[in-house]
Amino acid sequence: MTPKGAATSGTGILMAEKKKKLPKQLAILDEDLCTGCDACVAVCPVDCIDKISDPSHPGYAMGICSIDLPVCIGCKLCAQICPWDVITMVPTNQVLLAPEFAGQIA
Ligand code: SF4
Ligand code: SF4
Repeated sequence: MTPKGAATSGTGILMAEKKKKLPKQLAILDEDLCTGCDACVAVCPVDCIDKISDPSHPGYAMGICSIDLPVCIGCKLCAQICPWDVITMVPTNQVLLAPEFAGQIA
């Protein structure tokens, strides 16, 4: 039996999992400015925005949000609805080069 996500070949089982094609842009959220209003959470079609639940995070007391960048599809809905313009759509190439996002996406 072949496990889900795997493919068979003449030499055995090869994992067929391919790297996700990255969107042209990604949503970058400024956690210092987020008010935790949840408007972005409600509109994200891939459910990749979450309230931070880490009490050690500086913005935890305010209930800020965070975006799971590897899941973001770059649809812009969160940036359009944020009442405080806290989310910016940034070209993926720029995000990949930014040291603060190193290792988070690819
Ligand atoms: S751009 Fe779209 S997919 Fe990405 S975090 Fe915002 S709503 Fe979610
Ligand atoms: S809509 Fe803007 S202010 Fe509200 S939780 Fe999302 S990023 Fe924060």
